[in-house]
Amino acid sequence: MGYNKLGMFQVIRSAPIYDVVVIGSGAGGGTATKVLADLGVNVALLEAGPMLNPAKDFKEHMWPYQVPHRGSGEGGASYFGRGRAFGFFSAQAGGWQLDGEPYTTGEGSKFMWFRSRIVGGRTNHYGRISLRLADYDFKPYTRDGVGTDWPIAYEDIAPYYDKAEGFIGVTGSKEGIRSAPDGIFQPCPPPRVHEVLIKKASDKLGIPCIPMRLAVITRKTNGRAPCHYCGQCGRGCVTASNYSSSQVQVFPAVQTGRVQLFTNAMARELITDNEGKVKAVSYIDKTTRTEKQIRCRAVVLAASTCESTRLLLNSRSPRHSNGLANSSGVVGRNLMDSTGFSLGGRIPALVGMPRHDSDGMGGSHLYMPWWLWDKKLDFPRGYHIEIGGGYGMPGVGSFNGVCREHEGYGESLKKAIYEDYGTHVGFSGRGEMIPNEHTYCEIDPNVVDKWGIPVLRFHFRWTDAELKQVEHMEKTFTEMIETMGGKVNTPRRAAEESVPVGTEAIKPRPVEEKISVGGEIIHEVGTIRMGDDPNKSALNKYCQAHDVKNLFVADGGPFVSNPDKNPTLTICALAWRTAEYLAEELRKGNV
Ligand SMILES: Cc1cc2nc3c(=O)[nH]c(=O)nc-3n(C[C@H](O)[C@H](O)[C@H](O)COP(=O)(O)OP(=O)(O)OC[C@H]3O[C@@H](n4cnc5c(N)ncnc54)[C@H](O)[C@@H]3O)c2cc1C
Ligand code: SF4
Repeated sequence: MGYNKLGMFQVIRSAPIYDVVVIGSGAGGGTATKVLADLGVNVALLEAGPMLNPAKDFKEHMWPYQVPHRGSGEGGASYFGRGRAFGFFSAQAGGWQLDGEPYTTGEGSKFMWFRSRIVGGRTNHYGRISLRLADYDFKPYTRDGVGTDWPIAYEDIAPYYDKAEGFIGVTGSKEGIRSAPDGIFQPCPPPRVHEVLIKKASDKLGIPCIPMRLAVITRKTNGRAPCHYCGQCGRGCVTASNYSSSQVQVFPAVQTGRVQLFTNAMARELITDNEGKVKAVSYIDKTTRTEKQIRCRAVVLAASTCESTRLLLNSRSPRHSNGLANSSGVVGRNLMDSTGFSLGGRIPALVGMPRHDSDGMGGSHLYMPWWLWDKKLDFPRGYHIEIGGGYGMPGVGSFNGVCREHEGYGESLKKAIYEDYGTHVGFSGRGEMIPNEHTYCEIDPNVVDKWGIPVLRFHFRWTDAELKQVEHMEKTFTEMIETMGGKVNTPRRAAEESVPVGTEAIKPRPVEEKISVGGEIIHEVGTIRMGDDPNKSALNKYCQAHDVKNLFVADGGPFVSNPDKNPTLTICALAWRTAEYLAEELRKGNV
């Protein structure tokens, strides 16, 4: 028993020694926990947020009139851009800022960090786009001399993509496109009207437009009911027909009897023994504000890329003076997000269409994989295109633009709104960022959070490679809209995506202002990279720390590059592989 440096918390050492402590219950932690538990390993799962109760916490099928202020918040907060991130109905339990848990940015840098604090992390409300990396994505340096190769190849991870897709359930179709490898797919629902029109235009332009790969089940799977096409995935799915690590992995893992879930348990530091191995995890029990320790044979760090980085950098000891697993100095470096840019347009062919239910899966039913991967362009890496449109349920503020453009009120305004509704389509590009020396995170020596834990400071810079890619996106989306016979809306930043397409009249801006802000696309990865060389990487090819044999990382930290594919399916596949490897090493007594 005792007090920490700040004299705040009582330290209580818990008696049991767990085989593995998993830190964080999102995509990576949920997957690792389920796989370990199924292999007979005893797991303590530490989660900084509270327990999730889908029946109570999710807002699926609720109408705006059932909730105060129709979901716009006190004083119309959402309407003025001050409401909950992603809207009142979103199943998130977090945001761009968390009370008492700040982060800072270096001079001249902008960075946005979205964190969730609840069992399941960000998987309760994420977009569920689930794309495999292509074979060439693992060897970028070999291909064009830019970036760094992964220590694994597509063949190493393919069996784990199969396992992850088979278990969580992903829609899609076999297409044989090299930039978008096929997987184990459930049937995808047919395209909506605006998606059919988009596909016609993309066919004309020679851009493939194929069924979306979404972590939604359309067939009964492992006792989960298939999707009933309410189109509300972001609100959380009470029937667990979409993937969230909470419902699909954590709850079933706890039922095995081999997993003890500690909620409101914020890991603060990894404690090492004389040999430099982790012997315990120190955490803040947020409900009692006490500091506790939990002992273990091994640790899987899955607190999300930057939280895991923070934990390693805060776990300093005489033997690990640079932070844990950081003798190479790479922990915190090579931070990457995806590039983001969006453009919308009004399509005359959609005007006057009979109103119909276009809900479907909670996301688009089609998307466009990168199609120029074998062409020489003036930027090195590609992007894919996500599409939007249709008759989604409008929220407060959805018709701002029409109101602004329309003279008058009453019947004629209502008519204008009715006629405009559903006539817009939108395109969002998500592209690869190449790591650069100006983009990293580190511990801010001057700021701590409400638990006394030092916070992260972010530095971020896009380079020409990303800016030129975004210029290409703008040109492509413009061509797409014009090929559909439509008219482009004024370009908007991805930050304004929550504002309905076509409602903002903003002056044309330079590309530096059109590209998303770093972190905004919520695909942050790469700060605990894997590699064969311990001088240039923190982890080996099994995501095991070079310096600390019983320490593993199972979130986006190990990524060596950040190809245009949204990262979560790859996080799940890597976590699955790491968990199997760890279980075997535990069995052999190697860790
Ligand atoms: C709106 C939105 C849309 C998105 N859409 C997509 C998409 O379509 N496709 C895609 O691939 N990705 C998407 N993403 C990104 C996706 O959510 C993340 O890639 C994924 O959730 C990362 O998984 P993770 O396990 O690393 O982290 P998380 O899911 O964030 O989970 C981390 C967990 O660790 C806990 N934790 C943090 N610190 C500690 C600590 N110190 N101690 C204990 N616990 C801790 C957190 O509370 C959290 O529960 C989206 C994200 C958002 C927010
Ligand atoms: S669209 Fe399907 S998966 Fe999404 S919330 Fe509705 S039923 Fe669940």
